[in-house]
Amino acid sequence: MTKWLIKCDRCGTESVFNAGYDLTNLGSKLYLYCEKCKRNTEHTVLGYYDDDTNEFIPFEKALSFRYKSL
Ligand SMILES: [Zn+2]
Repeated sequence: MTKWLIKCDRCGTESVFNAGYDLTNLGSKLYLYCEKCKRNTEHTVLGYYDDDTNEFIPFEKALSFRYKSL
């Protein structure tokens, strides 16, 4: 599982989303339920936390890592 940091485009609330897959495959937008808006809203993927170092990796950098490994 990877801890992704996402932000609701509607209210701006940042939250952590656990996913077992690479969100960079889906682009930087996700349609998810927002606790604050009480509805499904568009979220921007800001980046993820590295499992080993707990370092925050911005989305742009995550993308470049992916392209490097291809
Ligand atoms: Zn929201």
